[in-house]
Amino acid sequence: MSFFAGRVIIITGSSNGIGRGTAVLFAKNGAKVTITGRNAETLEETRQLCLKAGAKDYEILQVCTWSKDFFTRCSFQLIGDVTDESFTAKLVSATVEKFGKLDVLVNNAGGASIESFNKGIMDLPVGEFDKMMELNVKPVLRLSQLAVPHLEKTKGAIVNVSSIGAFHHLNPIPYYGAAKSALDQVTIQMAGSLAKKGIRVNSVNPGPVLTNFAVAAGASKEMSDKLFEDMAANPMIPLGRIALPEDIGKIILFLANRSQSEILIGHIVTADGGVMLKSAMFPDA
Ligand code: NDP
Repeated sequence: MSFFAGRVIIITGSSNGIGRGTAVLFAKNGAKVTITGRNAETLEETRQLCLKAGAKDYEILQVCTWSKDFFTRCSFQLIGDVTDESFTAKLVSATVEKFGKLDVLVNNAGGASIESFNKGIMDLPVGEFDKMMELNVKPVLRLSQLAVPHLEKTKGAIVNVSSIGAFHHLNPIPYYGAAKSALDQVTIQMAGSLAKKGIRVNSVNPGPVLTNFAVAAGASKEMSDKLFEDMAANPMIPLGRIALPEDIGKIILFLANRSQSEILIGHIVTADGGVMLKSAMFPDA
């Protein structure tokens, strides 16, 4: 039987991309999943994929804030913004109310904002940095604080989704990289504090993954397709391809699975097909 059978998982940002791929993998492994996002239609697609993967209807919870019946399915109106404190509180309370416990929190929701392709850190308004922190860091702290009392009971795990952008120069999204670096430090601080409560905290830092990321950041669909096409053919990726959401999902399940990864605490797992191995000095080596 899978380690995750009957375990309760919250995955933020599961209406698309990596979060969706991860939700489906958890569902396939018998977990009860709380899925969430801002787009009701794509969230419903995730729910259907979880059902297809073997989840029962009652094992999936979709959470929104504004509706009176946020414990039930959200039909086609949904506002599930992780930057909204009241939403994050409801996300945790609705999950525990429905499933009775919480085993794993996956802090995956996040993203960048492309103000201009021609601007770098010296030209972008500093206020943009605040926006990146509001989206990529603060919700992780808030949700984790809310989840800890429940995770302590189950000796559970938190997995944060950061980025190799935390280690790289990232024109035109420098503040995104800076926010992900801050997130890595948050992972380390939380891991140290929570280990004595029996809660493990780790991070996966993906390289390029085929998702809606660029479009969500403000690129056109055509630009996004071209970007991923170029990356797919990029000889700087030793693996020879970019990652799919499931590639990252598998790492998230590994980090969330105490029977597999108990020894990892405060670990930043680079999951990039070898991109970080390449040096700008010797690109052809
Ligand atoms: P997608 O745009 O495909 O998915 C992002 C998910 O996060 C969506 O479900 C989106 O919901 C949700 N989300 C974004 N902002 C908010 C918000 N304010 N409130 C609630 N939900 C929100 O991108 P990815 O799957 O690629 O991104 C997932 C994570 O992976 C992010 O943290 C990203 O930084 C990280 N990452 C991605 C990489 C890549 O190459 N794709 C590389 C490295 C890291 P909705 O669509 O409903 O608004």
